Amino acid sequence: MRIKLDRTLCDGFGICARHAPRYFSLDDWGYAVLVGDGTIPEQDRDAVLRALMDCPVHAIMTRSERRPDDAPPPALSEPDLERLKTEENEAEWGFTR
Ligand code: SF4
Repeated sequence: MRIKLDRTLCDGFGICARHAPRYFSLDDWGYAVLVGDGTIPEQDRDAVLRALMDCPVHAIMTRSERRPDDAPPPALSEPDLERLKTEENEAEWGFTR
């Protein structure tokens, strides 16, 4: 499992550091700092998930497990420009203000 911490969201409650002190420390103002690169071994997964779920501002998130050598994501299809909804054709698609 991989996680990331958005420090701009952290409100410094310190719950994460209490649940998973190996992965979260608190700076001088009490805001969380991620220890390491966010890779969580299986044996510590439960403690880190508990920190993630108990964070009152959802500052801790799981990261995609995608690796550079994984298959690329499917390509996005081109938009159908004939059916694109715009202000010019809004009467056709029923938009009302
Ligand atoms: S639990 Fe959330 S808000 Fe509290 S210190 Fe950790 S990241 Fe910040």
